[in-house]
Amino acid sequence: MIASKLTGSRKSLPKGARMVLDSLAEAKEMLSAKELAFRLKLKNPVSAPGLTTVYRSLELLSRLGIIQEVRLNSEEKRYELLNPGEHNHHLVCKTCGQSTKIKSCLLGASNESPSFEKELLSEYGFKVSSHVLEVFGTCKLCRERTENKEQTENYDAITLQGANDESCISR
Ligand SMILES: [Zn+2]
Ligand SMILES: [Zn+2]
Repeated sequence: MIASKLTGSRKSLPKGARMVLDSLAEAKEMLSAKELAFRLKLKNPVSAPGLTTVYRSLELLSRLGIIQEVRLNSEEKRYELLNPGEHNHHLVCKTCGQSTKIKSCLLGASNESPSFEKELLSEYGFKVSSHVLEVFGTCKLCRERTENKEQTENYDAITLQGANDESCISR
């Protein structure tokens, strides 16, 4: 479990941040600050941290690289847990809003190619400290749905044209 790998640094975290972290670990999905505050309140009606503390905790946890903030479209920021030293990118469907984590980082080093960040340093003298990359488009399910719909629409168009042809012949 991710949280257990962080036991060392966890102990030094403020109580609010630890509660936020636990709540995020339990959720296993991206949550916004408001959703987190709501969940915490449900669980601990008396001692739950307020929204301001949740925001501050999220900032702290992001800075420590324990969680990552993700911005999908114009929605409010969402947060998810990270494996130590890693970060995530997402494929975001603009139709249904579902997002899929992608494991590979286009900008980082891989076995086949040198790091894009290194290239930026050598080509432009630019030192990258962090990057954000989310990919927007249409997911497989939504694509299949629209393709089926288009097929029916094409079919309708053909039958319509057929009817017109017939009426021409009968004249
Ligand atoms: Zn979709
Ligand atoms: Zn990356």
